[in-house]
Amino acid sequence: MQNSVAISALRLTDDQGRPGPLGFAKPIAASALAAALGLKIHGPDRLILRIGHPANNTGINGSIILEDNQSLDSTIAGAIVITQQGKYDMKLAAIKEKDITAIVYPANYPSQSVSVEIAKYLYWHCGTELLARSIHPSASISELAFISESVVISKDVYVAPFAVVGPNSYLGPGSSLKPRAVIGSRDQMSSQFPVLPTNSFGGVWLADNSAIGAASHVAAGCFGTFTFVGSQTKVDNLVSIGSTASIERECSIVACSILEANVTLKKGVWLGPNVTVKEGVTINKYAYLGSGSWVCNAIPAFTWAAGVPARAFGIVCRCKKKLLVSEHLAHCNRCHETYRINGSQVTPVKSVE
Ligand SMILES: [Zn+2]
Repeated sequence: MQNSVAISALRLTDDQGRPGPLGFAKPIAASALAAALGLKIHGPDRLILRIGHPANNTGINGSIILEDNQSLDSTIAGAIVITQQGKYDMKLAAIKEKDITAIVYPANYPSQSVSVEIAKYLYWHCGTELLARSIHPSASISELAFISESVVISKDVYVAPFAVVGPNSYLGPGSSLKPRAVIGSRDQMSSQFPVLPTNSFGGVWLADNSAIGAASHVAAGCFGTFTFVGSQTKVDNLVSIGSTASIERECSIVACSILEANVTLKKGVWLGPNVTVKEGVTINKYAYLGSGSWVCNAIPAFTWAAGVPARAFGIVCRCKKKLLVSEHLAHCNRCHETYRINGSQVTPVKSVE
């Protein structure tokens, strides 16, 4: 049993009042971590500033520890990679070329347990940064809401009665929480790192003018990252959003939908009621998912899909009107946008983005 108290430090915001990714309070050298866990280190010794998955943008401005679940070739230069013996041998050239530090564990070591051991060690020995508390005087916060200590609440935010704002939450200008909305909760559904305290050291980022509906909840990100809800995205009631999900701007998520961990919704996606998006799945921009869909695989942009499992039925305009396709072109008679169709690829002809 671990009985020391985790260390914390304050993460200050930039001149626009926005926090960066949360790092460790007291970084340690990669060699110290390797020595403590009896693992081998190859390449330069670096300070471990934060931890993350390759999929997250945690590599910016600092060394990282990566879960080795992607190709090392795609790994960011200067990173610290946790990798299995056999894989290290195969990818030696890529590691050297990119100036990567590798911490190598034996081939018979289950990768899930090595990542759990490392995350636990870093959590207890390096501690985490927490957001320095800041609440704009124009924010309207119910006295019956629960607000954690380390939060940033921007101007014109509205927090309704019985809403809960967990640690490391950033609420952008004009964002709102309806009654009993909970942000920054532990992710109860994720299959990743279920036993760790770590997913309480990430946070939730609500961009400007986003809204979280009544009794909906957004889990905290993992390893110092934020679960992200984009600008002007509307989340309806009784929706559940998993850890490290990334939802871009102008999406609509209708009631009772469930987004599992690491889901990505690109700009303007519309999810009908009671849609389930499985862990790690990406839905591309302006896709339209019919009610009750069960989304197990990536959905292309401008696709109208539905069903269990969801499959494509047609093309949808960014204004949400379903389109008829003739000779590789589709025209919307509501908003007059025209699209070029090439297999499953749909591109607006004007392409204002
Ligand atoms: Zn249209």
